[in-house]
Amino acid sequence: MPRFRRGRSSPAHDPPQPRFDKRFYNMRTIHDPAEFRRLCRELRAALENSQPGPLRRLGFVPTMGALHAGHLALVAASRARDQATLASIFVNPLQFGPQEDLARYPRTLAADQAALSQAGVALLFAPAPEAMYPGGFSTRVEVEGLSQRLCGASRPGHFRGVATVVLKLLLLCRPETLYLGRKDAAQVAILRRMISDLNLETSLEIVPIVRDADGLALSSRNLYLSPGERATALALSRALRRIADAYARGERLAQRALAAGRAELQSPALALEYLAAVNADSLLPVEQLGPGALVALAARVGATRLIDNFMILADGEVQL
Ligand code: AMP
Repeated sequence: MPRFRRGRSSPAHDPPQPRFDKRFYNMRTIHDPAEFRRLCRELRAALENSQPGPLRRLGFVPTMGALHAGHLALVAASRARDQATLASIFVNPLQFGPQEDLARYPRTLAADQAALSQAGVALLFAPAPEAMYPGGFSTRVEVEGLSQRLCGASRPGHFRGVATVVLKLLLLCRPETLYLGRKDAAQVAILRRMISDLNLETSLEIVPIVRDADGLALSSRNLYLSPGERATALALSRALRRIADAYARGERLAQRALAAGRAELQSPALALEYLAAVNADSLLPVEQLGPGALVALAARVGATRLIDNFMILADGEVQL
């Protein structure tokens, strides 16, 4: 019988600060890409000179800001494994479609800085769009096939924007480890493919979804929800729970398990975009549920687009 494992609800850690070099005593916010690259190099050199031991050197947590406990779980995972943690806040215009929420995406830099500094981040990179994409910028990173699946089907160009910005960020800071949340499971598959295809020297750590106590996956976009919409949005995690329960009772046929969840998503206040069982690496549909399968959904509640998923782990455990 598979056991259920929930994502962590709050980061619990008491990390050592990177006190090896007084230039990095306090978190610094950098806006200029060239300066970020230079400081990452200096930080690496300082670590190489001062801290032997089992910890890896640099971990990196890219975000779009409006930080919540999900983002901080990524930082905590890095603080537990790495000598120093880098983070970025960049609302990446390249990954938003023309009708999407780029202009109104929440921007809370001062509060984010305080949270990241408190969490022990050494360097925060927060560039302006013009610094990342100066006039004439014309390179794009396309992970073919994968980029068109799940959210990619309704958000053309979204994953091209994600892959382009993450490659730029990785080349600037060259971390040993990139931390990503399972919440964006298609993004994980696409960036894993990109890192492998381009022989990047970065390993991936995937952090389970952090949820509110009532099951709603934390998301910066939850800030858009009215109280009524937030109540409606609980149907997403309830539907996934139903499907996971069906799997736990022995249902292996994906379509039959999905049907168990679909009933939860019938509300007129909710527009389901997709509910699918796919292979977590290829994002292609699977007929049978088993280790390596991802059950993912996207839905609109009012004007807000929300995603959620659960993963069946290699040992048959469900990670919701
Ligand atoms: P975002 O700021 O939405 O681009 O997210 C930045 C990173 O945080 C991505 O790797 C997300 O998958 C991750 N993340 C966002 N929400 C959660 C959550 N509720 N639990 C775990 N990771 C999350």
